Amino acid sequence: MDIFNFKYFYIMITSKQCQERYGAPELERAMVIFDVPAQLEIGFIPKRIYCNKDLVKPLEKALNLIVLRDCAKFIKSWDGCFNIRKKRGLSSKSLHSWGLAIDINAASNQLGHYPTLNPELVKCFKEAGFDWGGDWARPDGMHMQLSSFK
Ligand SMILES: [Zn+2]
Repeated sequence: MDIFNFKYFYIMITSKQCQERYGAPELERAMVIFDVPAQLEIGFIPKRIYCNKDLVKPLEKALNLIVLRDCAKFIKSWDGCFNIRKKRGLSSKSLHSWGLAIDINAASNQLGHYPTLNPELVKCFKEAGFDWGGDWARPDGMHMQLSSFK
């Protein structure tokens, strides 16, 4: 495996940056309802997604790529976006707390287990500006989060 695949070497968005940019998660200051375009209501993707305004464009881009590359069939479940919580087992807050992360196919991609997400599907998200939890030392295969503030 190419060592640059390891997110360990990447700079990821931190909860501190989110706190500075959006304030406390409870304020829900940057949250919007993303009305998913009809042609992107694919698989198990909800019609409306309550997420951070900065997630709308990357998510729309990812969904477009998924349609274009016929990857919708790999989405088995939608497992949420906005959820104020700590990273499991850690003290810092998850990017879900600011609506900057989504989970899919949770049943077969549990934290700490070998991720089973289809690589083509993962690629659609990465190209659209997401970091994939499946790349982490403690894999979180269900998890996609915004990779940077543009
Ligand atoms: Zn997640």
